[in-house]
Order: sequence, then C-alpha cells, then structure tokens
Amino acid sequence: MTGALQLSEKMSRLGTETAFQVLARAEALARDGRDIINLGIGQPDFKSPPHVVEAAQKALADGHHGYTPAAGIPPLREAVASYLEAQHGSAVDPANVLIFPGGKVTMFFAILMFGEPGAEIMYPNPGFPIYESVINFTGATAVPIRLLEETGFAFKAEEVLAQITPRTRLLIINSPANPTGGVVPKEEIDKLVAGLADHPHVAILSDEIYSRLLYDGREHVSLLSYPEIRDRLILLDGWSKTFAMTGWRMGYSVWPRDLVDPAERLAVNCHSCVNAAAQWAGLAALEGPQDQVDKMARDFDERRRAIVPALNQLPGVTCVEPLGAFYAFPNITGTGMSARDLQDKLLEEVGVATVAGTSFGALGEGYIRFSYANSLENIETAISRIGTWLTDQNG
Ligand code: PLP
Repeated sequence: MTGALQLSEKMSRLGTETAFQVLARAEALARDGRDIINLGIGQPDFKSPPHVVEAAQKALADGHHGYTPAAGIPPLREAVASYLEAQHGSAVDPANVLIFPGGKVTMFFAILMFGEPGAEIMYPNPGFPIYESVINFTGATAVPIRLLEETGFAFKAEEVLAQITPRTRLLIINSPANPTGGVVPKEEIDKLVAGLADHPHVAILSDEIYSRLLYDGREHVSLLSYPEIRDRLILLDGWSKTFAMTGWRMGYSVWPRDLVDPAERLAVNCHSCVNAAAQWAGLAALEGPQDQVDKMARDFDERRRAIVPALNQLPGVTCVEPLGAFYAFPNITGTGMSARDLQDKLLEEVGVATVAGTSFGALGEGYIRFSYANSLENIETAISRIGTWLTDQNG
C-alpha cells in the first residue's frame, strides 16, 4: 500500500478465493474473443427453479420491501427446521435457525466468534480457502487437517482427534468437500464424534453445503444426527448449490442455543438482514417441487462419470473418483508442472479455466480443481484440448 492510508495489520492476513480471480480473467479473455471453457467456478450451470423466481417476483409485488428480523422471516426459519428434519431425521428448533446472505457468512461469523491470538482452529487442507483466510485474519492459529488422495481426501478421525489441544476452539469439517469431492465415511464421523466426548471445549462447524450432491446411492451423514454434540455444533448449509441460487445470496445455519444471540448480533452489526424477496424465494425453494434438485444431481453424476475417466487418460494426470459435490481434483505431478503454472497455461494457452490446488491450501500442490458444473459437451471438448496440448508439451 502506498500513500498516507494505513490499513489495520490484520488486513495483511486476509486471503482470498482464487476462483473469483480466475473467473474474472476467463471473462476478460472471452470478451477479447477467446473461446474459453470455464471449469473453474464452483456454481451450478442451471437456472434457479421457475417457482423460486416467481416467488421472489410475487414478494416484491406484494410489498416485501423492508427490513426483516435479523434472524430471518419466521416462516422461513420454520421451513428450514422442517426441511432439515425431513432431510436428516433430526429435530431442529426454528429458534436455532438463522438466515444469512450465503453459506459463507456462517463460516465468517463462526470463525470470528472463536478466533483470536492464542486460539487454535482446525480446518481441512486442501479445503475451501476462506476457512484458512478468516482464521488467519482473527489472529488464531490455523491448524490444518491433512486430506490425502490415498484416503479419497477424507480425514481419519484419530488423526483429527490427535491434533486437538487445550487451545483448540473450533473444528471445521466439510463433507462432501470442495475442492476434492471427498466424502467422509460414516464410520470416521462416528469415531470423531465419539472421541470429541473427551474434548468438550471444542465447537464444531460442519459445512454441509453439498449435502444433496452425493453419488452412487450414498446417503449424506449430517452432524445434526449426533445428539451428543448438538450443544456445540454449528451446521452450515444454504440454497446456493442445492437450488442453483448462488447469486441470490441465501444461506442458513443451525446454532447451539448459546450461540444464537452472538451470531445474531454479528448479523445486526454486519448486514442487518437478508434481502426480503430472496427470503420468500428461499421458502418456495424448500417447500416447492424438488424435481430440479434431483435432476441436477443426476446430470452432475453423468458428467462425473465422463470427466474422471477422461482425466485419467491425460498424460501425467491421475484422478481418484470424487464421491460428492461437483469437483474432480486430479493429481498433476506427472506433468512436471506446478499447480499454479498448469492453471495459468491451461487458461491462457488452452482456453480452459481450472483452479490450482494451492488455492485451497499448501497441501493442494500437485493438484488442480476441475468443476464439472458445465455441459458434457464442453467438458469433453475441454479435456480433449488439454490432451492435445499436454501431448505437444511432451513431444
Ligand atoms: N462452503 C463451501 C465448501 C463452498 O464450496 C462454498 C462455495 O463455493 C461455500 C461454502 C459458500 O457458499 P455461498 O455461495 O452460499 O456463500
């Protein structure tokens, strides 16, 4: 920073989400006439369901133009509680549900609430980059939970438990996961929850934003279904991925009773409330037909079954099967390039946007993330272009 303005020291510790930079660069290249296939950004390539759009239009026409309660409109908090009970079979009190502008806000507030110098917060690495960024911002120590290819990028409960110290305040988990598509098996979650009984000072943030994107008949295991940790569990989910509503900025979370008030105070200090019409749209999404959600999951699965074998055919690339979300996270070490180098070359020279594994933490070196939230045709063209280019590099 030059000039007379002096930012606070903590601003130098705030990271970013490279996927947005890649998106901006891909769009700039496309504006210059380049044919770019975007496998970088993590958002469904589907439109929000029509009944959701209609509900927002009706809300505006009906005069829902003002502030709402900071916690969200009561019918939506009730609908979230009923929806979660139907999805996971666990009773949720609407008083513990908060409606926030996106899933990200729940993680920001949860980390702000627990993070300060001297505290430790555990987070998945490679993982969604905002966890590490905000932990560092608060001055807490970011303790990585290593996710390895050998275990399908799922953690081992005993390794996680072994890293807990008296200073650990918050444990962040994310399954199904971004950027790996990894899903933690139920046995490991059972073991983790059992072991947490010995560490009652640790709160858990379970990021379940991909809870409805699991493949091969797998069922989502929500941390909500473990009553023994409900007094210290923060559940993060939302509308972005499930209902193709990333731009509406709609998320919800379930908080333990004692944390509802601090979370709501953060909301009042930050954004006051979520856009009123968007909340009515969110209600329609939860209570209306779910056929589009199921169709999206089937389409993602079809693409997953196309992209993984295609990636495995590329020279120097191997890819384990992702079990959830809409990402593949191939190992690219055999190409001889670093993740960042390959990301940049694929975008600039091949016209395919991807995100370097290192954007998701230091342990992402040697991998790049492909989002398969794009048409089968585009995925096939992209991988074939990459294949030709990689072969030329070697030849
Ligand atoms: N959590 C994970 C793991 C994500 O991948 C994302 C978005 O990419 C989010 C949270 C944020 O979701 P939202 O767009 O609702 O803020």
